[in-house]
Amino acid sequence: MADKKQIQEVLKEVIHPELGSDILSNGIIETIEIKEERVTITLNFPKSRDPFTNSIKKQAKELLTSRYTELAGNLFFVIKEAAPKKEEPKEQKTDTKKIAQIIAVASGKGGVGKSTVTSNLAVTMAKMGYAVGVLDADIYGPSQAKMFGVEDYKPGVEVVDSVELIVPAEAHGVKVMSIAFFINSDDALIWRGPMATNALKQLIHQTQWGELDYLLIDLPPGTGDIHLGILQELQLNGAIIVSTPQQVAIADAIRGIKMFNSPKIDVPILGIVENMAWFTPEELPNNRYYIFGKDGAAKLAKESNLDLLGQIPITMGVMEGGESGKPGSLMISTINNSYSDIVKKVVNKLK
Ligand code: ADP
Repeated sequence: MADKKQIQEVLKEVIHPELGSDILSNGIIETIEIKEERVTITLNFPKSRDPFTNSIKKQAKELLTSRYTELAGNLFFVIKEAAPKKEEPKEQKTDTKKIAQIIAVASGKGGVGKSTVTSNLAVTMAKMGYAVGVLDADIYGPSQAKMFGVEDYKPGVEVVDSVELIVPAEAHGVKVMSIAFFINSDDALIWRGPMATNALKQLIHQTQWGELDYLLIDLPPGTGDIHLGILQELQLNGAIIVSTPQQVAIADAIRGIKMFNSPKIDVPILGIVENMAWFTPEELPNNRYYIFGKDGAAKLAKESNLDLLGQIPITMGVMEGGESGKPGSLMISTINNSYSDIVKKVVNKLK
């Protein structure tokens, strides 16, 4: 049976990747208890939610049981970590403190135009003179890089006040950071759970946003773990809910509203944008066809006591703009008017 000294020698080989030191000298190994055949190792991580907890435990276990096979089945780990501090995001070395207002754009359901609305809001804000950034947090289908025409952008790193910051792309006067800059489009689906939340945290805190009036976050659709991770990480100033008038989208939007209102999250909802509200063919400019139903999101706003920030029709140019890297609001005056109205309402609400 290995003794304490031998176990310590093996554990010295396990390095914490972020701290850059072995887990014995940096104090992560709190105690090693040997009672008869049973070995209990207590790992105490100095920071809460350390992303390396599992990999360190696994590495320690594998190394010990490969050197001392008799330990297999007799090795136990106790994991301790620092209690999360409430003001942790502010204490971190971050560049987000220069951002005046952070707004999440959310939808209950995919495909309702949440990303399109985000990019159009951003370019409209920039045109109105605000300093704006967009963070594409939609790990299931990151599309902001395409919508801003910066798919090929490869982010560099700059050191500011001895902190490494990732340089965002810039298009149409908007700073854009996306998880898509770091992955193959085919890999998007493997970004799940804690891994995605950690990657997003880094993008939120370590992007060189500089001074911004507004940072818009394009959230993934739905109300899952990723949302909780991001929402708990950030001091959001407000959320905008995007929905089509269609009943299935409305049902999911209600879940989104509940999530923001829940005591755990408690982020004020600035209002609802009804996207794809109707279709008007060019040759019949006075006709409106309510393809997905009429006023579904408008009614939802009324029933939920929320503001209807605007209604955006189905417009060929909006779709084409999303495909070609130039959001529709920059090209179609009626769309630009609708978005300008929405921005004015949002700005007023956040004053
Ligand atoms: P989400 O982010 O909710 O998944 P997207 O913004 O990617 O949705 O939009 C889904 C599709 O609908 C895209 O092809 C987009 O170009 C198109 N689209 C969104 N809003 C409109 C609109 N108002 N008119 C025409 N096409 C739209």
